Amino acid sequence: MRIILIGFRGTGKTTVGRIVARSLGIPFLDTDQLIEEGAGMKIPAIFREKGEPAFRDMERQAIASLPEDGIVVSAGGGAVLDPGNVAHLRRGSLVFLLGAGEETVISRIGGSDRPSLTGRPLSDEVRELIRVRKPAYLRAADFCISTGETSAEEVAGEIVRMLHEGPVPPNTKESGLKFIDGIPLPDGDRSALSSILRKAGDSRVGICGITGYPCSHSRSPALWNQLFSRYGLPYFYTSFEWPAIAEVIRAARDLGVRGLSVTIPFKEEVMGHLDEIDEDARAIGAVNTVVQCGGVLSGFNTDWLGVRAPLEDLRGAGAVVLGAGGAAAAAVYALLSLEMKVTILARRPEKAERLASRFGCRAASLSSIRDLSPEVVVNATPVGMLPDRSSLLTREDLEEGMTVFDLVYTPPETPLISLARRAGCRVIPGTEMFIHQAREQFMHVTGIQVAESLIRELV
Ligand code: NAP
Repeated sequence: MRIILIGFRGTGKTTVGRIVARSLGIPFLDTDQLIEEGAGMKIPAIFREKGEPAFRDMERQAIASLPEDGIVVSAGGGAVLDPGNVAHLRRGSLVFLLGAGEETVISRIGGSDRPSLTGRPLSDEVRELIRVRKPAYLRAADFCISTGETSAEEVAGEIVRMLHEGPVPPNTKESGLKFIDGIPLPDGDRSALSSILRKAGDSRVGICGITGYPCSHSRSPALWNQLFSRYGLPYFYTSFEWPAIAEVIRAARDLGVRGLSVTIPFKEEVMGHLDEIDEDARAIGAVNTVVQCGGVLSGFNTDWLGVRAPLEDLRGAGAVVLGAGGAAAAAVYALLSLEMKVTILARRPEKAERLASRFGCRAASLSSIRDLSPEVVVNATPVGMLPDRSSLLTREDLEEGMTVFDLVYTPPETPLISLARRAGCRVIPGTEMFIHQAREQFMHVTGIQVAESLIRELV
């Protein structure tokens, strides 16, 4: 196992890293020092004479060449902004984010000879860089530890304790285990979770999962566990199918669950149980991704990115969204971000009107699709989802050249997709939304950008 320390300059990575390495009896490496040795010059000189892009190239090479086991590494402050570096750093590692308040960082690095990255006074630069880098730090870390009020020895002691005893404190572990004992779990997952949490011969240390009611049919566990093993991440992904989201979230806190995919019917309700909600999720009114770091639960929405990605070449088009539920809200938000002219069509006009007024777009009845003659049609209703074999639209509603995106993905070839294909439309199956939203979700939870082709292959 490797131990990686990340965080802004002045958070104590080098001092803490040396103490951790000494107490574990393994070597310590600082990526900045590796770069200086490789270049034969100090970092300020590299910035001055070769520029920041050259420094980042050297950093990428240094990170890619790190030993794979038995070492403590302090990574440069900006290293995790590059998802490729994150994939290298996370392989076979536990990543600790050391954090400290802005004022502490400013006072600790006040006398440094490092060149400015922004050309602004030090205190402004620190505040700005911490703000910009914070999401990348949180994504790349398994655990967050504050170094502001504690000594380097205490922080190092906490890291060593977590390595020996596991990250979950004994008192919360017991209540979390009680929750797990009381819920139905997929075959084999109960014993895997128990051995991870009790540190009984399982090298994995972290838990992720999907929560919904129902959610045991989900493809997410198979996909995520394959991704964890491809990227060498010590995580296990399971399915928490339970009717009370408040209890799932309490257990997620108790067990230090790193990431949760949230599905029907909890995408709205879960928002009331989180500590932070990202701007897009708040605007859509739904969270499908929860990430935990340092006891703080943050909510995101990646559904809208799953709708947006396959339609990016249709900026400005006229579009209709069928349905006025949660997936429709994410779809409308995605289409508006592409400057499309959006009309919501739903069987209950008052529901369509309500959603349309939230987003400042138009609403109409399902029957008006022929008058609108849209370039893009997005089905955000469950019509056509197995065992249903019907389509909301008929052949006469569709025109050659239209783009028809059915968010339903079981089966991949829905009745609407078949009909649209026969009508000469460009078709986008719901698996595309699943692939893109899962890719973004994995990025939130791990900081790793999975190649689209890999997700496609695994799905
Ligand atoms: P939801 O909140 O329950 O909303 C469903 C919407 O569909 C409501 O407006 C509902 O109208 C309407 N509807 C249901 N049955 C209908 C029917 N027979 N005729 C006309 N309208 C009907 O569900 P959701 O969370 O938005 O999810 C909708 C679908 O999106 C899901 O079934 C799923 O297949 C798909 N989805 C796919 C992905 C993916 O990754 N591909 C992700 C999320 C969702 P009422 O309000 O009148 O009932």
